[in-house]
Parts: sequence; C-alpha cells; structure tokens
Amino acid sequence: MHRQYRLTFQDKGDATKFVREVEQLKASYKPNDTISLQGFFHLILGFMGAIEFEFSETQLYNLGMFSQAITDFEAIYKQIKLKDIKYFLGYIVGYAKWNYEEGGADDPTKINAIKIMTVHRAKGLQFPVVFVPHLIEGLFPIRARNSNRWLIPTNLFNVQRYEGNLEDERRLFYVAITRSEKFLFLSTHQYKKNYPGLQNEPSRFLREFPQAKTLTQPIPDPTHREKLDLKLAAPLKRFATSYSDLRYYDHCPYDYKLRFIFGFNPEISIALGYGRSIHNILNIIHSKYLTNPPSDEEILKIVEQNFFLRYCTQEFIDRFKQSAIRIIKNYIERFSGEFNLILETEKQFEFALEQALISGQIDLIKKFNEKGELEAIEIVDFKERDLSEMTTDYVKQLRLYAIAAMRSLGFQPKRAVVHHLDEGTRSEVDISEEALKSMEFEVKETIENIISRRFPKKAKKKSCDICDWKWICTKREK
Ligand code: SF4
Repeated sequence: MHRQYRLTFQDKGDATKFVREVEQLKASYKPNDTISLQGFFHLILGFMGAIEFEFSETQLYNLGMFSQAITDFEAIYKQIKLKDIKYFLGYIVGYAKWNYEEGGADDPTKINAIKIMTVHRAKGLQFPVVFVPHLIEGLFPIRARNSNRWLIPTNLFNVQRYEGNLEDERRLFYVAITRSEKFLFLSTHQYKKNYPGLQNEPSRFLREFPQAKTLTQPIPDPTHREKLDLKLAAPLKRFATSYSDLRYYDHCPYDYKLRFIFGFNPEISIALGYGRSIHNILNIIHSKYLTNPPSDEEILKIVEQNFFLRYCTQEFIDRFKQSAIRIIKNYIERFSGEFNLILETEKQFEFALEQALISGQIDLIKKFNEKGELEAIEIVDFKERDLSEMTTDYVKQLRLYAIAAMRSLGFQPKRAVVHHLDEGTRSEVDISEEALKSMEFEVKETIENIISRRFPKKAKKKSCDICDWKWICTKREK
C-alpha cells in the first residue's frame, strides 16, 4: 500500500496518515451498515491529499470516469452494505474495466474538435470528414478467433453470436464509412511496425471499395485554384446545455469543471427524485383538471402511483410522501381556481444561443386572463425547498425560460412567476426587455467562458461548506 501510494502521487502526501485514516473509516462502520460508495470515494481521495495538491488533467478525467462508474453501480445496487463491497469490486474488474472509455472523451467543451473513437462508439454519429485508418487484413476484418478458447463447450451455445463473422465485420465497416457527411479517407499501410521484412495485406474491404468513386492519387497542386470563403455559416456542432447545468457555473466555475468537464458525480442524496416526483404528480393533476377535476381520493391515488424515491428506506419514503401530499393539497386548495387558464404543462424547449444549444422544460404556461390571448401568457415554475442545499437562482431561471418561450415556442410572455410550493406563496420575476437583454448577455458570457475553458476559483467559505466537492477540491476555502 505504502509503495503504491508513493508511486501514484510522486511522494507527495503522507502515506502513513493515509493508511491510518482509511483504517479509521473502516472501523467506524459495521459489516451490516449501509454505505455510500461515492461518499467513500470522495473521502479516500481527500485522505490521499486531493485537497492539498492538483491531480493531472488525465488523472482527473479518469477519476471522474471512476466516479461515474460508482454512480452507475449505486443506481442498480441501492443501499449497499459494507460487507457487500466485494460485489462492487467484481463490477469494476469484470465489467467497468472493459466498458468505460478513458475519461475525457465526453468533454462537452470539445466541440468542433477532432474526435478519435472506435467504430462501435461512432454509431449514430456523423462528421463532415471521417478517417478510417489501419485497414489491414486480419485487423479489419478481424481474423477469426480460435474457438478453443471457450471454457463452456461450444455446442451448448451459439458461438457465432459472440465471436462475430465476416458479415458482422462488413456491417461494422458499413457503419464506419457511412459516418461521413462530405469526405471519407480510407487508409492502410504496407509495413509492419518492428518487422521491417514483412508486409501487411490491405483489408479486403479496401480492395472491394468501388475504385471509380475514389481518389487514390494525390490531386493536382491546388495552390492556384480559386479559393472559397470558408467561414462557417453556423457552428458545426453546438455546446448542449441547460439552465440546470449552467447554474453550477454561477455557484463556482470550478464546481462546473469537476462536475461536467471531468465528470465527477456527487454523493447520491436520499431525497434524489423528490422534486421530480412532485413535478410529475402536478403535471398529471393539471392535465386531469382540464377535462375532469380529480377528487381528493383520486389525488391521493395519483400520489401513491407516482411518488418514487429510489435511494430511501421505507421510513423516509413515507415521511417524504406525507410532505408531498401536504404541499400538493395546499397548492390545489389555493390555486385550482386558475387551472382553467393552463395552456401547456411540462413544455420542453430548445433554442440556439451563439455556440450553445439550450434546452429545458417550463413547468406551466398559462394564459394571463380569461380572454386567453396567446400574447398574454404567464410562465410558472414550481419550487419546493431545495433539499440539495444549493439554492437555484430562480430569477435567472425564469428569465431564461422567458427567452426560451419567445425563441423556441413562439409565445410572448408578459409575466413570470415562481410558486414556492413549500410555503404556498408566489413571487413575480421581472422579465422586461431590459432584464431579458442583460440575462442573455450573462448567459452568453457564461457559455463563452465554458467553451474557452475558463474555470476560475470562486471559493467563498459559505459555498465551499455546502459544495459536493469539499473533500476533493484544491481550491476549497477552509
Ligand atoms: S469547494 Fe469551493 S472552490 Fe471548490 S468547487 Fe466547491 S465552491 Fe468551488
């Protein structure tokens, strides 16, 4: 352990202290105690000195990918006990090791950049220019494997299904060559690396390719040709984001970087899904009110059927459910008189803002008055108390939704309102032209900062104390 630790972290940190802290952590749990693997992971990184010195970018990408693998495991094996940690190790060695790519491939800021990926990973994607190199017989198509390698007798299952055959390889080649929108480059090479005397045979797929449609010789020197203006009319690919993501940049740009660039996942909150459940239930109730208002009994039934918390014990689920019922009943009691003004519920939007594509969902769009003119609508967003502690800036959120309602949905909202479900109150947000202009400017600036990879520290003790990364962030304010 001591040796490995020193090797990994170039002698920085105190290995003895690390071992002691891990032992203390282990001793504080009994075999039957439920544990949070993600929480353990963050703590262990902290013990290794993650808040004292910077990991390299590659290490952070890979640690972020490991964090993602933990979340995927916890999503299936909820409430893991300490004694069952061996199953997680089995998952890492037997599955994750082979099925998770190196971290960094999904970095959302790498737009309009060269992507290097396997053909399998490119399925469903398209690019203006595609290179398929290394087309060598025996590699693509791959040489048939030796069937003796199977531990199970091969007459007991369909071997071909698992080994693939020439036609599977041909289909894969078809996937590769149909990824290109404009130019496709296929290449092979003659000599084997480290074997100067031996020559490669070009792939049969390359030989079979219709020669009439290919350029196999260099084209004439294009120096004196008439040049076109190659300025792009629009970005080739946009940076996909949402307000839910951008708000982390406002909280702290470094928080955004750890979460979305390196891919770290926070510890799963037991209340995860609470807000989503309430939104889904309200959506059903709103829709029902338009045709046949549900009775109290039906409302309770809707809650029963649609309230889910994946990571909670039954005791907590019951408590959260009671709180949800109280909130929903209170909301209906006070505001059901206005339900006839509802125009759209859970309305999805997507609009381009310079290099970004912003998507989201507006909880409710209402006509402003009984006349029901489309010109006069009100957008509403529901807020229950933020159980994650990080408060959402609902003013910004509603302003962005107002812009979305105009750009993406063709509405002209006159009012934007937040329903604070817990308190049963509403607040109106200024969505005047001036306010929206300044909001748009702010969002553009944030997007520009993200794409240019500017993630300065914005550490304030208060933010750091409630931050998901307080155990692993070198920039934390103590
Ligand atoms: S711990 Fe502080 S500095 Fe680090 S990401 Fe969180 S808020 Fe930012």
